[in-house]
Amino acid sequence: MGEYLGKTAVVLGGGMAGLLAARVLSESYERVLIVDRDELVGVRGPRRGVPHGRHAHALLARGQQILEDLFPGLAAELVGAGIPAGDLAGNLRWYFNGQRLRQKESGLLSVSATRPVLEAHVRDRVLALSGVELRERTVIQGLTASADGSRVTGVRLVAGDDTEVLTADVVVDATGRGSRTPAWLEELGYPRPAEDRVKIDLAYTTRHYRLRDDPYGSDLSINPVASPDNPRGAFFPKLSDGTSMLSLTGLLGDHPPRDDEGFLQFVKTLAAPEIFESVQSAEPIDEPVTFHVPASVRRRYERLARFPEGLLVIGDGVCAFNPVYGQGMTVAAMEAAALRDHLAEGSVRPRRFFRAISPIIDTPWDTSASADLAFPGVEGKRTLKVRMGNAYISRLHTAATRDARFTEAFFRVAGLIDPPQALMRPGMVRDVLRASKGGTPAEDGSHR
Ligand SMILES: Cc1cc2nc3c(=O)[nH]c(=O)nc-3n(C[C@H](O)[C@H](O)[C@H](O)COP(=O)(O)OP(=O)(O)OC[C@H]3O[C@@H](n4cnc5c(N)ncnc54)[C@H](O)[C@@H]3O)c2cc1C
Repeated sequence: MGEYLGKTAVVLGGGMAGLLAARVLSESYERVLIVDRDELVGVRGPRRGVPHGRHAHALLARGQQILEDLFPGLAAELVGAGIPAGDLAGNLRWYFNGQRLRQKESGLLSVSATRPVLEAHVRDRVLALSGVELRERTVIQGLTASADGSRVTGVRLVAGDDTEVLTADVVVDATGRGSRTPAWLEELGYPRPAEDRVKIDLAYTTRHYRLRDDPYGSDLSINPVASPDNPRGAFFPKLSDGTSMLSLTGLLGDHPPRDDEGFLQFVKTLAAPEIFESVQSAEPIDEPVTFHVPASVRRRYERLARFPEGLLVIGDGVCAFNPVYGQGMTVAAMEAAALRDHLAEGSVRPRRFFRAISPIIDTPWDTSASADLAFPGVEGKRTLKVRMGNAYISRLHTAATRDARFTEAFFRVAGLIDPPQALMRPGMVRDVLRASKGGTPAEDGSHR
């Protein structure tokens, strides 16, 4: 451990990105203050500031690895708390293009914690670190800056009737999709970042059930993923208390209804018939709730020519993905790992940090934006690369319904472990094309 970079770091927002940022900042600042509008200590259920936390969340394999690196023993701790865990490609039942993929042990761990439970375990770990403090039930009003606006010096907070200014060496905005940094930049005389947007008009509607029949067998979750042929999707994990969560997803305005009959009719149209079969006789234990995602949004901070010193942005505030691909928490973890490397360079340089995280965002952004463009109603330019990529991934999914090694290869890439190029190796392409046509795939498993 070297010298501290400064006395105080303030993290705006105690969601996943904020907690992970606080974890790495604690190595470089004497004191790390996390500020959140919600009550957080002891909270293990959904909360107002994270309304999306009521809906199915899965942590991709890469995110799982980084969390384990930042919090050694976390996976074992979750399993010890009774959270179902298994193999991402072996114990999760996936449907793509309406067809069930073959399953295979991949060595990629999937822990089926709900978002509030995962966050609670991570929060407990972060708050146990020396120097880390939490200001809960505190609203962030804005930033303070030097007279010439060249440096952010702290934040203005409101808790009940009290207002307070906190001075900080660095302020990290982790307030999520609703981040106000673009507006704050404008107030300080800087341009806003450009935004890339893919309009998806997506909604999740989620309900919990106590099942009478077990549709899972040895599987942890049944996930028919939306595809152009069947744009209605779902995630149906079993939870640690023996109940099941059913999150329905509907794109381009085809939102899953909240009334009993409409909800069930939507379930009936899913590619996985066993979900309808099990929930029609199951006991619903709450009312359905909906969360709307109008668009995926990427803010191009790395392209700004000027940016104040002392301010960083991380997590959904930089890039909020289409959630069906399950990338947000993992990208937040990858950005936190990049922040750790950045701090190790000995100073905080915001523009350099944004340039470091931009390539981290590129792959998940490109793959999710391309996958969205496979839906004819999604607006955007379908370049040759996008069209060829989507046609190939569709063939790969078909191949994976016949040979589980393609399931594994797909999830290594979708899980952000392997780069997309891993699916493009000549031997792999040959085998995918052969297997998806119905021919006999190579048996030696080589992907060269
Ligand atoms: C429906 C849905 C499903 C998703 N599923 C997945 C998934 O399966 N896998 C995955 O990896 N990701 C998923 N995501 C994305 C994931 O939730 C986020 O990427 C991830 O949580 C990182 O978010 P964040 O911490 O940047 O922001 P958030 O989770 O939004 O947290 C922001 C925090 O800031 C606080 N805050 C905001 N404004 C203020 C203010 N003015 N004052 C004080 N506090 C404030 C809030 O209370 C909150 O605690 C999903 C998202 C949605 C919408």
